[in-house]
Amino acid sequence: MKPFYIDYPQEKIEEHQHAYRCLHCKISTTIIFGLLENHAEDCSYRILQSKSTQLKARATSNKVHFDEPHIDEVD
Ligand SMILES: [Zn+2]
Repeated sequence: MKPFYIDYPQEKIEEHQHAYRCLHCKISTTIIFGLLENHAEDCSYRILQSKSTQLKARATSNKVHFDEPHIDEVD
């Protein structure tokens, strides 16, 4: 299941009463529908989120590495 991204900055669409859009790429929230890939490719939010997702993936693999059993030196 894909993660939903709903914490992006939004602004009201003036012409529509209850419609909002991404502050960065101006794509309607009903089109984005919580999916990062539905933002414009050059959307600042999308770029930031995909970067942090990559960082998290890297951090996870680092953690696995650090969790490998090792022998503590005991004095
Ligand atoms: Zn966007």
